[in-house]
Formats: sequence, structure tokens, C-alpha cells
Amino acid sequence: MTDLLARITDTRKALEKAAPAPLPGQQAIPVATIADHHYEGRGGPCEAEWFTVPCGKHRDAHEYIGVEDA
Ligand SMILES: [Zn+2]
Repeated sequence: MTDLLARITDTRKALEKAAPAPLPGQQAIPVATIADHHYEGRGGPCEAEWFTVPCGKHRDAHEYIGVEDA
């Protein structure tokens, strides 16, 4: 248990450090791309839920569509 608390403390200290400067050529990845989801609907507004919040966007607003929609 003590070891676990020490690891948590070390992790918190590491997270408090400032982010290192980007490497040459390094690019940021848009978070929206990571969090995006497949369109879930039947032609209408998207019915996918993100932590109980419905998406509601149009099918074309999604970068990814389900295999059955292709
Ligand atoms: Zn959606």
C-alpha cells in the first residue's frame, strides 16, 4: 500500500511538470479526431451518446461512418 501511495505521489509530481517543448517537426493531434466516433443513426441526427449526452449532429458532420453506411 505504501508502495502504491509512493507511485501515485511520483505520478502526480510528474504530471505537475511543464510539458516539454515540441520536437522539430512534431505536430499536435486535434483532440476531436481522437474523441470522434462513428455515425450512429438511421439517416437522421446521430444517436451516439457521449457520457449520456447525445451527439445529434448530421451524418455529414462525422469523419467516420459505420461500415454498414459506406
Ligand atoms: Zn455523432
